[in-house]
Amino acid sequence: MTHKTNLSVGAAQTCVLQHVSPLGAEEVPLERSLGRVLAGDVRANRDLPPCDVSAMDGFAVRSADLAAGAVALTVIEDIKAGDRPQLAVQSGQCARIMTGAPVPVGADAVIRVEDSRPLADGRVEFASLVKAGNDIRVRGENMREGDVVLAAGTEITPGVVGVLATVKRARVKVVRRPRVAILSSGDELEALDAPFDPDRIPDSNSYALMAQVQALGIEPVRLGIARDDPDELASFLRRGLNPADFEVLLVSGGTSVGVHDHVRPTLEKLGVTMHFWRVEMKPGHPVAFGTTERGWVFGLPGNPVSSMVCFEQFVAPVLRRLMGQARLFRRTIAARLAHPLKTRPGRTEFIRVTLTPDTVGGYVAASTGSQSSGDLLSMARADALLVVPDDCAGLAAGDVVQVQLLDGTAFQNLSGFTEDA
Ligand code: AMP
Ligand code: MG
Repeated sequence: MTHKTNLSVGAAQTCVLQHVSPLGAEEVPLERSLGRVLAGDVRANRDLPPCDVSAMDGFAVRSADLAAGAVALTVIEDIKAGDRPQLAVQSGQCARIMTGAPVPVGADAVIRVEDSRPLADGRVEFASLVKAGNDIRVRGENMREGDVVLAAGTEITPGVVGVLATVKRARVKVVRRPRVAILSSGDELEALDAPFDPDRIPDSNSYALMAQVQALGIEPVRLGIARDDPDELASFLRRGLNPADFEVLLVSGGTSVGVHDHVRPTLEKLGVTMHFWRVEMKPGHPVAFGTTERGWVFGLPGNPVSSMVCFEQFVAPVLRRLMGQARLFRRTIAARLAHPLKTRPGRTEFIRVTLTPDTVGGYVAASTGSQSSGDLLSMARADALLVVPDDCAGLAAGDVVQVQLLDGTAFQNLSGFTEDA
């Protein structure tokens, strides 16, 4: 046994990430690229705008014509976006121009239509001065041909999709997504489609973990439930460890010290190198991590909340790095604690909390109730995990604490917004 035990959360995170680098690249259609990560730099295929264009619907003028006060100009041409101007604008003339249309030779400014007045003789009157360059977007001001506009490692957001379309990338080179297998283990577990049995425990971990993986943009495969029998467990684990099918295997349950906890020895028998077991954290103490030549294996605690909390701390960063993401961890922000909290030094505690905006631009964190590692309802209610450092001997109401945001806080209501407003 060469693996480490009783690591701090930080040491365990360092350990897992030391064993991970991004997967290779693949090409996907632009329509399927949202949430992926660019595997290579993307360069502009031309200047944008490709020439000087109007930023407004209005008139292209010579600014010198307007220097002496109100002036009436003759309209020589209508220019729409996509047109090529046919005529040069001479002194005393202007061209009607639409947003995005090329500015004609001779003109050096655009005046919006709202600042003009049509005259009965067909000319147009302008009353105010205009500076050269007014409301003109100059050639290349957004991008220059050949420039790197999106660097390798960029996460593809809707804005990035727009840029990729602008530079005409119908197909995009992105980092591959890991293939993830999920296995539950335990004699007491029953599948969702099994008839109700009061002595059994529904296998919730397979589904909660599945959803956590899906939330990262990966569609995992559930392998089912392995009984606490070394041979049956080994045959399930062999499936999850097959490099032809999966890169990452998540096993929940059976990683502790009970006589029926066979996961770690069985993984080792199957050739997995275990790097650590047990992390000084609550919930989540009996978590294990190992690797094969091309695979990553997590033994997660059976307790439903522990398994989810361990996923956030150790598995999500690994999956995100495999996918090429640079930001690996849940965002942590400061909040004020609503009530005192008893904690024990020597381990990092993760407290399920709700977050409520306060009146000064911050948040108040309050426990969601029972912090038992079996109480999934209190996890379901949580906006965030309050991270109590391992040297903290207790917290008072009003203390500033760090909270790790779960998904629920990304959206908010407008202040004063009601449905029937
Ligand atoms: P274990 O880590 O196997 O000792 O399990 C710890 C606790 O978690 C036990 O009460 C199990 O019944 C429970 N548990 C284990 N696996 C699951 C699962 N897949 N879904 C729900 N509860 C589980
Ligand atoms: Mg068990």
